Amino acid sequence: MLLPHRHRAALLDPLELPPLPGVDEWDGRLAYLDRDGVLNDNDEGYVNSEADFFLFNGIADLVASLRISGYRIVVVTNQSPIGRGWWGHDRLEGIHDLMISELLAGNELAVIDLILYSPYAPSDQAWSRKPCPGMLQVARQLLDLTAAGQQLVESNLLYGPEYSGKPDAEAGSVMVGDRDSDEGAAAAHGVRFLRTPGDTGLAAVIDHML
Ligand SMILES: [Mg+2]
Repeated sequence: MLLPHRHRAALLDPLELPPLPGVDEWDGRLAYLDRDGVLNDNDEGYVNSEADFFLFNGIADLVASLRISGYRIVVVTNQSPIGRGWWGHDRLEGIHDLMISELLAGNELAVIDLILYSPYAPSDQAWSRKPCPGMLQVARQLLDLTAAGQQLVESNLLYGPEYSGKPDAEAGSVMVGDRDSDEGAAAAHGVRFLRTPGDTGLAAVIDHML
């Protein structure tokens, strides 16, 4: 099984879940956010370096507003340049460090709870590459296990066909993306999908989430 990767951590490392502002207890809702075309503008093409990375104006306040309304935030992004051998994990880590720091600089409540990425090339046919649902399945389980105070161990996670899905678990959750592959992953996972115009991002759909 070609598993998703997690930003600057092994997949099963302990996860820090900072308190959500405005709610006493997380009710399980996740905002699964694609990256390019949702958080940052990729109108000019692929993001191959930090110099290509431009958050949309006001995006930090929008992410903060999702958290204030009770969502935890998960970024799920296909990153095939790694699998194609164009550049490595270290470059992606730099881009994601920049994303995290710019979001927090924009609004201290704009916290991303988890970043998962799929480094595989399309020819790998990875279960964790959208439109397959692997990243969403893993994110759901990592967040739920952590919130329940359970250890992240291999035996607690279900992968691929073994993951039977918990339909009720995604009531109120949303996947936001700008591509058919995002919509496919949402459908395969069983979560509501909202499509952004890639040139305006999350701002275009957030009224349907709050
Ligand atoms: Mg995208």
